[in-house]
Amino acid sequence: MTSLLQTLSCADGYDPDSLSVERARALILSLLQPVTGREQLFVRQALDRVLAADVISPIDVPAHDNSAMDGWALRFDDLNPAGETRLRNIGTAFAGRAFEGKVDAETTVRIMTGAVLPEGVDCVVVQEVTRTEGDTVIIPAGQRREQNIRRSGEDLSAGKPAVPAGKKLRPAEMGIIASLGVAEVSVRRRVRVALFSTGDELCSLGTPLAPGAVYDSNRYTLWGMLTRLGCEVIDMGVVKDNPAAIEAAFREAATSADAIITSGGVSVGEADFIKQLMTQLGEVAFWKIAMKPGRPMAFGRIEPDGQNHSGAWLFGLPGNPVAVMVTFYQFVRPAILKLAGVDPLPDFPTFPARCTEAIKKGKGRTEFQRGTLSCDNGAWCVRPTGAQGSGVLRSMSEADCFIVLPPEQGNVASDEIVQVQLMTGLI
Ligand code: AMP
Ligand code: MG
Repeated sequence: MTSLLQTLSCADGYDPDSLSVERARALILSLLQPVTGREQLFVRQALDRVLAADVISPIDVPAHDNSAMDGWALRFDDLNPAGETRLRNIGTAFAGRAFEGKVDAETTVRIMTGAVLPEGVDCVVVQEVTRTEGDTVIIPAGQRREQNIRRSGEDLSAGKPAVPAGKKLRPAEMGIIASLGVAEVSVRRRVRVALFSTGDELCSLGTPLAPGAVYDSNRYTLWGMLTRLGCEVIDMGVVKDNPAAIEAAFREAATSADAIITSGGVSVGEADFIKQLMTQLGEVAFWKIAMKPGRPMAFGRIEPDGQNHSGAWLFGLPGNPVAVMVTFYQFVRPAILKLAGVDPLPDFPTFPARCTEAIKKGKGRTEFQRGTLSCDNGAWCVRPTGAQGSGVLRSMSEADCFIVLPPEQGNVASDEIVQVQLMTGLI
């Protein structure tokens, strides 16, 4: 394998001291490949899993020509184009109980939604527009051939892919698969992610807070986000800023995980040995991404036993809790989806909204402010969620979107149009 860092350094616009968000994301995605393991699961167990192979339809759906409405099944050519037509009622077709006879000239069959079309029928007239007089059914003018008819194979045809590989299965796909009579599907195995926090100041839950200490919150937000994305999470706890402990954690993580996520320890002025260790145990690039929050980040591979061994991708996220979440949304989420085999990768839903407050912003970096959306007379408005410090996790909790301010953007005036990324439901 060509050295990872070599590949990176040859990439267009590669400047580890000032990478744009888009560039960093593209570099990461260009290196990752989906995990190859597969599992065979019953449809219900496969919710939110990623399909490993196309589901080929074994049948036509619908399997028979049938009626889309309750009404009268008839032959279009029997109808008088200029006025009413009188037809004789000769029976009823129910869903699951067909009318066995044939619809001949000047006859009609009462038909229910989903009932198989009797022979000869090419038009269904909805009940509401008709009248009956004894056995006679009176059909008004203005009908069309083929109206209210569902032809067999209209939804899906036998032998064709009904759901493509790479699809993350949602309720709609589960329904489609069930509609084919298929009981099991092949999905990719879950992405395994090992997770630990670094920092001598970190204190675990359930222990009293020592002077100068902070509770380790990052492991909880990360665990939540990874779990929501369908990962198998290996939680390795807090690791002290101690070379031996960190080395042991990396070695252990790299034997079983596809990716390792750490928080803290990658910023300027951090205990340098963490960065040295990462480099020593694999190939890791330290990036200063032109974004706020979330500037420092490490990305690379940890391969403690050399190449072609077990090994894992490393995402060394910053320590500040908001920076952790922002970098996760911008880089880790697409990376996990790529590893999981999701194809095509979804875009972040982004759209313009009117910003209800002025925002101070320096040029040169992309800022991800947290905001809440509302609709005002049919137009989207966004309001920043109070204090935007990279340690203020409340700003994430209150937010349903990021206000994305590009590098060239300066201060935002009240009522200016800004781009927002909707995060609700993404993780
Ligand atoms: P660092 O990137 O290690 O310099 O950390 C930056 C800031 O984030 C410091 O204030 C840390 O105390 C804080 N921090 C680091 N890790 C965590 C964590 N796991 N939970 C909460 N805060 C953290
Ligand atoms: Mg630290």
